[in-house]
Amino acid sequence: MNIPLLDLKAQFQPLRAEIMAAVQTVCDEQGFILGPRVVAFEEAVAKYTGARYAISCASGSDALLLSLMAMGVGHGDEVITVPFTFFATAGAISRLGAKPVFIDIQRDTFNLDPAQLERAITPRTKAIIPVHLFGQCADMEAINRIAHAHKIPVIEDACQAIGAGQGGKRAGVLGETACFSFFPSKNLGGFGDGGMITTNEQTLADSLSMLRVHGSRVRYLHEAIGINSRLDALQAVVLHIKLKYLDQWAEGRRRNAARYEQLFKDAGLLDRVTLPVTRPGNFHVYNQYTVRVSKRDELRAYLKDKGVGTEIYYPLPMHLQQCYQDIGHRTGAFPESERAAEEVLSLPIFAELTEAQLAYVVEMMAGFYTR
Ligand SMILES: *Cc1c(COP(=O)(O)O)cnc(C)c1O
Repeated sequence: MNIPLLDLKAQFQPLRAEIMAAVQTVCDEQGFILGPRVVAFEEAVAKYTGARYAISCASGSDALLLSLMAMGVGHGDEVITVPFTFFATAGAISRLGAKPVFIDIQRDTFNLDPAQLERAITPRTKAIIPVHLFGQCADMEAINRIAHAHKIPVIEDACQAIGAGQGGKRAGVLGETACFSFFPSKNLGGFGDGGMITTNEQTLADSLSMLRVHGSRVRYLHEAIGINSRLDALQAVVLHIKLKYLDQWAEGRRRNAARYEQLFKDAGLLDRVTLPVTRPGNFHVYNQYTVRVSKRDELRAYLKDKGVGTEIYYPLPMHLQQCYQDIGHRTGAFPESERAAEEVLSLPIFAELTEAQLAYVVEMMAGFYTR
């Protein structure tokens, strides 16, 4: 069998006619950047997440950057986040001349550990960015309680978590702003880059709309130094169609996760493979199905040989990246992040996987450990 980590062609085929018709409409209209098609999609995302406002932009990375800009983060400021994430989370902070202040993750969820938050806060802390890694929300109740006591805004890095929930609310309304990515491999993936910021605060929404068009509200008059970061109408129509299917795809991912759990149990692999944990009150949408395994790199090579695609999200935590050596962290500074980087392996979880394919993945893993 040949099972890729993600098969976007399988998702596209049934939607082909619907998407091609929408793309053709945009081509006929020749309106490409922002405009009514983009506004319609923004309104749909606001409704979906439950947020009052949704402001689109060019990528999830820019959604983070714009959120920080709207909150006035700049030189000399500190922003707290985790080292175990995609680079964009920390990169957005550094791009503005601010300093990423890292705190470690929880072992079971891979998300920011709220127990370590309070002592990382200083008078320079301007924002906190918890990441909803792999499709499960960070403990926002605990994080918000501490953040609000210090009057520090919280930015959800929900780039992997559109549709994820906590306490009956969806990612998108659990912080002051939330950042989404429509990178093709995300649960709602476009045909290229795209991003969105949601918020319930009108002043933030106004600033974000201004900042994404070079700090301008009235054409050629610039009240702030913004950036050029907008969503294309072509992306908006594709994403608007795909949004209708998002919950159904998430259900498929959740069904596959449940199936994996049963298969790993039946194969007697639970001492070798640590399965993802969903904390009570969380609705996990499994952008990635990430297990911890022993002999990870050997296993990965073995699975590749057997036709099973996997990925390591992420092999090197931020505090050990070359570009962050100036901060001065050494190996051992964030042991849970470092341990995760050595143990994690993401397995195929996309909605269209068949029972036989899931069984094959587990069978091959069992084969590796009983060699
Ligand atoms: C994908 C991702 C981003 C960045 O999104 P892009 O659209 O690729 O810029 C940021 N944070 C996390 C956690 C992500 O997974």
